[in-house]
Amino acid sequence: MNKPMSPEVRAEMEKNVFIVKHAKVTGFQIITIEEYVAISAEHIPDVDTSLLRMQIQKVLKKYKTGVNCKCGQPLWVIGSGATGEDGCFKCISGMNAPDGDYELEEALK
Ligand SMILES: [Zn+2]
Repeated sequence: MNKPMSPEVRAEMEKNVFIVKHAKVTGFQIITIEEYVAISAEHIPDVDTSLLRMQIQKVLKKYKTGVNCKCGQPLWVIGSGATGEDGCFKCISGMNAPDGDYELEEALK
């Protein structure tokens, strides 16, 4: 069921290794939308990739315009896009801090 990652995605991931190390400080692992969509498609064969991509882009747009979670914390863009519900990491996952969970670089500034 596993689809091989495209060379473009793989090259991009390798380029991002140093950023990933940096992101360990925040607890998030940095990922691009395309990487996340590719990983999701790998794990969930019938995932609607265009819908997922669209939802993440929609949440990212909100994040950039300063929309926050109902609790006041910044939105967890990847988590919100994946679940279809806008929220911060804690409200969506129920955990206090991310531990290698995915987030977009643009959403960590
Ligand atoms: Zn929240």
